[in-house]
Amino acid sequence: MRNVPYSIKIGPVENAYSNNLGQFVVLRSAALPNVCVGCGGPAWGNMFYKEFEPLIKTSLPVIFLALYFIVGRRYLLAFPFCSTCSPENFRVRVIRINGDFAIFSGAAGKFIQSLPPISPDLSAQTSLNWLQRALKY
Ligand SMILES: [Zn+2]
Repeated sequence: MRNVPYSIKIGPVENAYSNNLGQFVVLRSAALPNVCVGCGGPAWGNMFYKEFEPLIKTSLPVIFLALYFIVGRRYLLAFPFCSTCSPENFRVRVIRINGDFAIFSGAAGKFIQSLPPISPDLSAQTSLNWLQRALKY
């Protein structure tokens, strides 16, 4: 398993977008607003660190599972998260993640609203095609 860190910081928004499904998209290097993803209040510069692993179906043959643990990746990300929110308020869920970008759902509405809408170009690049949908990633 290889760790793939994303370099996410808090600052003037860069490389982070909302889509029309109430989700947000971040590129590998992004700056997120100083808005808590849990409650939508000010994050005061606090960040919540979270690891994501692409989901795998445990019904896969053992050989694939073994391969996954050898060559698989674990993504490390940080999100603006205020100190008043408890970790249970962190409801961000990964929709899709790879070495270039990640799509998440479950962030506070105010956080989503503080992001610029995604461009049609980037939206096309990050949307799932039928094969990816079938494979989950
Ligand atoms: Zn909060």
